[in-house]
Amino acid sequence: MRLAEMTWPQAEAYFKEHDTVLIALGSTECHGRHMPLGTDWLIPEKILEVLEPLTDALIAPTMPYGNTDYLSVFPGTVSLGPEVTYQVMSRILDGLRKHGARRFVVLNGHGGNNAPLDRLALDLQEHGCVLIPVNWWTLVWDLVPDWNGNTPWSGGHGGAEETAAVMAINPDLIDYDAIADSNLKGLSDELPFSSLATVRFRGVDIPVRRFSRDVTDNGWAGSDHPKYATKEWGEQMIRATAAYTAALIEALTKVDLDR
Ligand SMILES: [Zn+2]
Repeated sequence: MRLAEMTWPQAEAYFKEHDTVLIALGSTECHGRHMPLGTDWLIPEKILEVLEPLTDALIAPTMPYGNTDYLSVFPGTVSLGPEVTYQVMSRILDGLRKHGARRFVVLNGHGGNNAPLDRLALDLQEHGCVLIPVNWWTLVWDLVPDWNGNTPWSGGHGGAEETAAVMAINPDLIDYDAIADSNLKGLSDELPFSSLATVRFRGVDIPVRRFSRDVTDNGWAGSDHPKYATKEWGEQMIRATAAYTAALIEALTKVDLDR
């Protein structure tokens, strides 16, 4: 059930009987030379498409921009930054709250949105509501441990995991000839980047945030090389996330928020 396709009396009727809203949040950003800029919201939208027949929850329109300042130097990337991401989502969720929403599930496609979402969850609690973010790319590692490339950052950004999910949406969205090594740079020979946001020193990954063109001139980073992506894997991850989220929504609707 899509808010965008309902009339206002239908929305009014929904909120008389229900208080759950599902919304996808992403980012419009570089994902390596081989992947589309919409990767972080196209994947959550695909999950919503598979999820829609499995749930009665109202689906609000997708938010395609988020917090991605560190990638903003790559052409086509547009960042709202952490403060505006928080403000925009706050207004959207608060608008829905005023009409009756109390249970929010945010299908998130981008790690940079986590801090604003944490803050929103606490804001909403103060209004007697609850917000649960679903980060599909880490959720699937817990659902099927083999889908994790065995390092904390695998599937991190534009690697095989996201490439597989985009292939499941439309294989033609990938520029296969442009798939190449990410060739991570370093602060120095002694401090090589091990992901977009870490350098490795003496076997330990230390967080270091830099504009990402100083980290990689390709734009993807991770231990799962995109050349290993398959459409079938992408379809499995999308189906698994949709089924899990449908069950999570059902559990959430049973939570007593007035306790
Ligand atoms: Zn991404």
